[in-house]
Amino acid sequence: MTDPRRTLPAVDALLEGPGVASLLATHPRGLVVRAVRETVDTARANGGTAPAEGWDAAIQAAARRLAAPSLVPVINATGVVLHTNLGRAPLAPAAIAALTNVASGYSALEYDLGRGARGSRHAHCRDLLVELTGASDALVVNNAAGAVLLGLSALARGGAAIVSRGELVEIGGAFRIPDIMARSGVTLVEVGTTNRTHPHDYERALTPESKILLKVHRSNFQVSGFTADVPAAALATLAHARKVPFLYDVGSGLLLDLAPWGLTGEPTVAEAVASGADLITFSGDKLLGGPQAGILLGSEAAIAACRADPIARTVRADKLTLAALEATLALYRDPELARREIPVLRMLTEGKEALKSRAETLKKGVKNTVDVIEGESEVGGGSFPGAKLPTWLVAITPRLLTPDAYVARLRSGETPIIARISDDRVVLDPRTILPHQIDTVIRALND
Ligand SMILES: *Cc1c(COP(=O)(O)O)cnc(C)c1O
Repeated sequence: MTDPRRTLPAVDALLEGPGVASLLATHPRGLVVRAVRETVDTARANGGTAPAEGWDAAIQAAARRLAAPSLVPVINATGVVLHTNLGRAPLAPAAIAALTNVASGYSALEYDLGRGARGSRHAHCRDLLVELTGASDALVVNNAAGAVLLGLSALARGGAAIVSRGELVEIGGAFRIPDIMARSGVTLVEVGTTNRTHPHDYERALTPESKILLKVHRSNFQVSGFTADVPAAALATLAHARKVPFLYDVGSGLLLDLAPWGLTGEPTVAEAVASGADLITFSGDKLLGGPQAGILLGSEAAIAACRADPIARTVRADKLTLAALEATLALYRDPELARREIPVLRMLTEGKEALKSRAETLKKGVKNTVDVIEGESEVGGGSFPGAKLPTWLVAITPRLLTPDAYVARLRSGETPIIARISDDRVVLDPRTILPHQIDTVIRALND
């Protein structure tokens, strides 16, 4: 018997076929060659059977897949506002306009328009950050993990950093604070226990080798029960008495107090600044609601040390980030405007009635039997762990598909929709569905 794999058509022969010729007219040759190769490889892996839909159709499908971008917009119907896997914070219209404006031409990125000479990219968001937070100086880098790496390297390289055992956290993407610290060239000195750390734990650990005290906000988990930790202000006082700096990684970058909306327990940036920390680090794309960025606030000496450290160059922010961040920060000059315009803040503070009416709109538009039921949304993204936001959900019991197959179908549309399954039903949370996406969701649910 001949091995059917031997009888597979040759790549060159397929490339000359009429079905593939039309592809070559509309796609780059390299892409078409890859589509043909992958189709033949798949057939070989299937024991040498030709594709069920025929060679041309299979090659055309492969070419379509290869030509499509992989980073596509999706609709977040999960109700997790800061969904790290779905790109964290959607941007405010002003931020999108600012980055588009800067992307389409040259910009004053490192050019001082007043003097007509070289300027610094570090100048752009600096004044706004100082104005909004009361810090003495500020620096923007690529992300908060980079900000922590930079801060430790600039202030404590070659020395020891003292940190509570209860704060040696792992953040999203399997990055661990101890690993970041090691790469910055500092030695970790752990004090206290997992659940309790006291001021005397830090005091006893301070030696002439100690170069910094570090506090890391537990942003993605809660400890409760028999617990104790040392407030930032007490650590700042201790650090200054012992002539070492204090770095406070607050994580989420909360510029607006959300306590009036029932969200408490996350330190605001203003509180962190008031604690007297020499350096504060946080993300741009968590509760701040801007682009991916790491923000360092602190004393002039601490920020100057960070600017001068070689790591500052390796984690520098790009112009699109700086443009989007500057526009986002500018909105905070009017807190009510920030709350309305910054999608993350709007979603977190949206009233239950508005959510119910959006859920009803979805229900009305959909032919399937759907219910509007009470449920809970989450903040996500390592912020306000454990907080539950009351919401109204659209719940669907699919008739012809299993819930798993139904959510898979929603993911496979032109604009993928990411939904949850709860109690064997498919649920969509209108909190994270942006207003202009409602019609798309209705259409997808009716398909
Ligand atoms: C999220 C987080 C980070 C990392 O921030 P990225 O911007 O994702 O790099 C660091 N520290 C804390 C406490 C965080 O919550």
